[in-house]
This record gives sequence, structure tokens and C-alpha cells, in this order.
Amino acid sequence: MKPVIALVGRPNVGKSTLFNRLTKSRDAIVADYAGLTRDRHYGEGRSGSRAFIAIDTGGFEPDCTSGIFKEMANQTRQAVAEADAVIFVVDARNGLSAQDHDIARYLRTANKKVLLAANKAEGMQSGPQLAEFYELGIGEPIPISSAHGQGIRSLLDMALDDFFADEDDEEPEEEGDKPIRLAVAGRPNVGKSTLINTWLGEERLVAFDMPGTTRDAISVPFERNGQKFELIDTAGLRRKGRVFEAIEKFSVVKTLQAISDANVVLLLVDATQGVTEQDAHIAGFILESGRAVVIAVNKWDAVDSYQREMLQRSIETRLAFLKFAPVLHISAIKRQGLGPVWKAITDAWASASRKMPTPVLTRLLAEAVQFQQPKRAGAFRPKLRYAHQGGQNPPVIVIHGNSLEHVSESYKRFLESRFREHFKLTGTPLRIEMKSSQ
Ligand code: GDP
Ligand code: GDP
Repeated sequence: MKPVIALVGRPNVGKSTLFNRLTKSRDAIVADYAGLTRDRHYGEGRSGSRAFIAIDTGGFEPDCTSGIFKEMANQTRQAVAEADAVIFVVDARNGLSAQDHDIARYLRTANKKVLLAANKAEGMQSGPQLAEFYELGIGEPIPISSAHGQGIRSLLDMALDDFFADEDDEEPEEEGDKPIRLAVAGRPNVGKSTLINTWLGEERLVAFDMPGTTRDAISVPFERNGQKFELIDTAGLRRKGRVFEAIEKFSVVKTLQAISDANVVLLLVDATQGVTEQDAHIAGFILESGRAVVIAVNKWDAVDSYQREMLQRSIETRLAFLKFAPVLHISAIKRQGLGPVWKAITDAWASASRKMPTPVLTRLLAEAVQFQQPKRAGAFRPKLRYAHQGGQNPPVIVIHGNSLEHVSESYKRFLESRFREHFKLTGTPLRIEMKSSQ
């Protein structure tokens, strides 16, 4: 589970700036879908191999009449409750304010790990200039500059230290007899609990005991057609005996955690509602996570042929960035179309964990270049020399050569489709990285 870090502080201290910096490593992936995947308040970040979720509470304005606590009850308090660690941001240039004291008083009782970040501290010494912040009773102020990227790494190290026993935590797991970790994601009422209960009621689905896998209360190991699965903590559901039921509140953090903890995500969409903005958000998270994904349009029984056509179109447009994902139509209630879902899930996992030997990749690369050369960019003609696999789930292909920074996006897509075709990849993103040797 990725730890959650909440950024808390009064307006204008630089929380959003810090948030953008913490989640910046993801920009390359989400850039094309800006506005879709970049939720205003939640983002994923990484420090070395350590991944985390950041929550920005930047939106709140204290209300003079009702006081800051009223606002905090709505926004900050909820973020703090969801967080494993809190970064309390203060303004090193403007010094302490009454609001800072209010927030500190609250945080001292919140029973969370709290770090005090003195932002806008570029060019300042940690000594006397920051001494007044000790008054907050939070501990040592850590000088940072969000705007200039100073002190962020060590701040993060301190925030994350308790949550990672060793650096290898996030290593991709080997396939084999390990169960496929499956998350069923979707907004409330799309039919998640109905589908899961239908599954768990099927006789072909055998529950089994898996030692040491009680990752959390909701994880359910089962086997189907000889393939082991582990249904992992599915956001928004609660287990009651053998039956799942929806809980009232949809949690973005839970959804993010379930997605990043999964090997394959089954994204449920409600046919009667079409693809909503919230669906697109969740899809964006899945894309960012790099997980394998299958889209199932549920309640297919309840829509007419006109609605079906509209739906097809809204998937093609609003979920265009997940076009590698197979789209299936099901009815959880009528138990229709469920067989193909299992096949799609196992295929997606097989694709995501495909082994791609260096000689094969290098040969495919040479053939692709022979078929079509990358375009010259000014004085540069990119030279693609060889390729090797840099990771699984998602699969990463690293291409080595010269002047590779001049390879166009469309040429990368051309390469991607050649690799996809050869390795029969479905339901998984494929990342292509260029490494110029100079
Ligand atoms: P928020 O309201 O707490 O989210 O604050 P913002 O991130 O919107 O930042 C408020 C203002 O402080 C903006 O004008 C930022 O450019 C500025 N700011 C943020 N970080 C720094 C920093 O490290 N140094 C300086 N000098 N200014 C900063
Ligand atoms: P969750 O919040 O995602 O777990 O959604 P639920 O499983 O609680 O389902 C929400 C509503 O949709 C319930 O009233 C279900 O009976 C209904 N529902 C679920 N699956 C189907 C389906 O395949 N067809 C139809 N017509 N309704 C469904």
C-alpha cells in the first residue's frame, strides 16, 4: 500500500507549488490528458523507488465568521484522517501567523506523524531565521523551497522513512503460481458489489486459503479454471460474511491504493449512465499507475440499441487514452458476458508480465527501422541501435542509440504498435523509453 501524505497549511504558503513538485515525476505520463487525470487534490509521487500518494488541501479559504476550524473540519481534517504523514507547510518569509498556531494546535491532537516544512526558504539558513517556528510545538522546521526544488528530497525521506522497510518493496513480482491481484474499480452504483457477489456465488469459483495473504480484511483469494486470483481491497465496498456491500462514501485514496496494489484493474462503467467525468478520472488513475486494465460496461441488459451506440462512442472519446484496454459488455445481475471477462483479465495479465528477450526486441527494432526510418530533425538523424526490456506490469522497452531525443511521438507510436503486434499485448500499457548514449 502506498503511504499517503497530506499537505496542510494556510493559503499562500506554497502547498500547491509543493504538490506539483511532489507529483511532477508523473507529468510526462499525464501531460496528454491534462485536466483528466490530474485531480485537483490527489496525485501520485515517487522518491527513488518509493511511491506515495499526495493530497493537496490547497483549496480551502478560512472563513472569517466561522473561523478556520470550521473549514478544516470540511477539508483539511478529512485529508489528515486519510493520511499516514502530514506535511505542515508554513511561510518562512512571512513568519508565523495566528492561523499557523490554530493549525498546529489541531495537528498536535491528530495523532499523526507531522513534519514542519518552512517553505520559501531559498537562500535562508536553517538556524536563527527559522527559530520562531519552534513555537508551534511541532518540532524542527525543515527549510525547503518548493519553487526552486530545494530540501524536498530530504523532507520526503523523513516523511516516508517509517513506511518502507527496504528499498525493494516496489519490485515487480514474478509470475508463476502467484495469484493475479485483481481490483474492481468504478464509481458508486456501477455494480461492483453485485458483480463480485455473482462471482463468489459461482460454483466454478473456488475459495482457497492462502497463507500469509491476509493483506487486509477485504482480500479474497479464489481460483477459477486453475488460475489463482486475489481480489484485493476494492474501494467503496465492505465485506459482510460472504457478501459484499457498498459503503456510503467513495474514497479516492482507497481507489488509488487498490489500483496501485493490483496487477489488473477491472474498470466497471454503468451502461445506463454513460461514461461520466468520475469514470474518466478513475481511468486516468489507472493509466498513471501503469496497471493492466479491462473495461466492463455493466447493466448492458438495461439499455436499448440507441443507448448502446451512444455508449460505444462515449467510450471511444472519453476513454480514448485507454484504447489498449479491451471493452466488454456484461450484466452482473443476469450473469451475462462474464466468461469473456475472465479471459480478458488473464490475457491482460499475461501481456503485462510478458518476457521480451533482448535479441527479439533488437530484431523487431531493426525491422521497424528498415520499414520506416525515424525522421531527421535538423542536423540530427536519430539512430536506434538496440532494445531491451526494462520492466513488467507495465512492460517497458528501453531503446538505446544516438540522438534519440529527436524521435517524434508519432514514430514512438509506430514502434509501439509493432512491438504490441508481435508480442500480442492486450489490456496493458506499453512504455517506450529512449536512452541516448552520449
Ligand atoms: P497555496 O495557497 O498554499 O497552495 O500556495 P501556492 O502554491 O499557490 O503559492 C502561493 C505563492 O507562493 C505563489 O505566488 C508561489 O509562486 C509562491 N511560492 C510557492 N513556493 C515558493 C517558494 O519556495 N519560494 C518563493 N519565494 N515563493 C514560493
Ligand atoms: P456498487 O456501488 O458499485 O457496488 O453497485 P451495486 O452492486 O450496489 O449496484 C448498484 C445498483 O445497480 C443496484 O441497484 C444493482 O441491483 C444494480 N445493478 C448491478 N448490476 C446490474 C446489472 O447488470 N443490470 C442492471 N439492470 N442493474 C444492475
